Amino acid sequence: MIRAWRNEIVCVLALAAALLLPGLLLGNFRLPFLLGFLGYLGWHLFNFLLLQTWIARRRSFRLPVSLGVWEAVFDGLQRGQLRKRRRDRRLIASLSDYRQAAASLPDALVVMSEGGRIRWFNPAARKLLGLNWPEDLERDLSGLLRHPVLEDDLAGGRPSRPLEVPSPINGALMLSVQVTAPFGNQRERLLQARDITSVFRLEQVRRDFLANASHELRTPITVFRGYLEALREAFSGDPEWQRPLAQMDQQAQRMQDLVGDLLELSRLEMAGRLDADAPVPIPEMLSEIVEEARALRREPRHDLRLRADPSAWLLGEEAELRSAFSNIIFNAVRHTRPGTRVEIEWRTDGEGASFSVRDHGQGIAAYHLPRLSERFYRVDAGRSRDSGGTGLGLAIVKQVLDRYSAELKIASEVGVGSTFICQFPESLVQLAPPADLPKAG
Ligand code: ADP
Repeated sequence: MIRAWRNEIVCVLALAAALLLPGLLLGNFRLPFLLGFLGYLGWHLFNFLLLQTWIARRRSFRLPVSLGVWEAVFDGLQRGQLRKRRRDRRLIASLSDYRQAAASLPDALVVMSEGGRIRWFNPAARKLLGLNWPEDLERDLSGLLRHPVLEDDLAGGRPSRPLEVPSPINGALMLSVQVTAPFGNQRERLLQARDITSVFRLEQVRRDFLANASHELRTPITVFRGYLEALREAFSGDPEWQRPLAQMDQQAQRMQDLVGDLLELSRLEMAGRLDADAPVPIPEMLSEIVEEARALRREPRHDLRLRADPSAWLLGEEAELRSAFSNIIFNAVRHTRPGTRVEIEWRTDGEGASFSVRDHGQGIAAYHLPRLSERFYRVDAGRSRDSGGTGLGLAIVKQVLDRYSAELKIASEVGVGSTFICQFPESLVQLAPPADLPKAG
């Protein structure tokens, strides 16, 4: 800018010098200098008008090369304009790349406003969700999808978990739908729907096979155990047959437990989302389970200590909660030495309610922990079978907790012990009816 002002001063001095000659010839300097001043003013006005027109016409023509300060102003504006054009072109190109990438995705993508209105969607959303461009723009997405489970996720402000729902236009198509948390200044949300029909069918075949095979095995095993019982009675006086028959009975019992757990797992898998409206008296249920756990082992018995908040009940299904809690408590007895101390606690906290079982047993090495709730995963397969485990207990626990949107946390240290925590959401916690609370004093 200093250079521009220097040029401007040079121009003014040159003009003044040029006006000296006519002044000398006329013997009067006033008129030439007045005309020179008016010309100088007119030139500034002309440049100013040029600039105004350039702005009014949205910078559609090139500004001319000028002199003095105007040279710097025009040059600066022209360069800024060029830079902006280049940036805009780059932005448009990358936006079009993103749009093309989104358009070529096989997954349906829908951008929604904070209130759930459709702002944009890709071609796959037409095929999978039946949306029409542009008629459905600005329409309410939950009204178009018409799925009660999805409605909660679309209304909520948090990212949802993937949900398996049939396509609203083709019931044979199975979709995995997920909604993101709000993003950007306008708090828009993105819904993604993926076609999982083939995986879903395979899963269904696997689930059906497991359920049918377990079901078919149940009756023969029951019959087998019945005859075994009769045989044991018939051979009760024959010491030679006692051991083999007892072993047969033990193995048949194991098979029966295994089939029972497999059936329980497939029932849970097919049960879908929990529709919980019955409050379950957890403290009372835990006292019963602890009594059963005490009977699992003979002397020296485990030191089982229960501390349960009597006022906290949980919405859910009693049988499956009992199954989850007893699996964890029985594990603490079966996988630790006799006499070990086990602390069981049921309490409410800021996040909801938690059930925890802490044992002072031999503990589990850290690398086993992420895999413990896999089916048939055992830290020590031989010892687990000897202790009567099927290897499915924690898989059942995990499946039950998934239905309650609850979390299973496992912490363990070798030589110190293990802690298993089930964390339930606050929405499921219920206050026990006053009649069921212990009287004060
Ligand atoms: P299992 O029927 O064998 O108990 P689970 O799925 O219930 O099967 O448990 C998986 C494995 O986790 C068990 O085989 C055992 O090795 C380990 N485990 C579970 N609970 C405990 C515990 N309290 N202490 C030590 N190991 C445990």
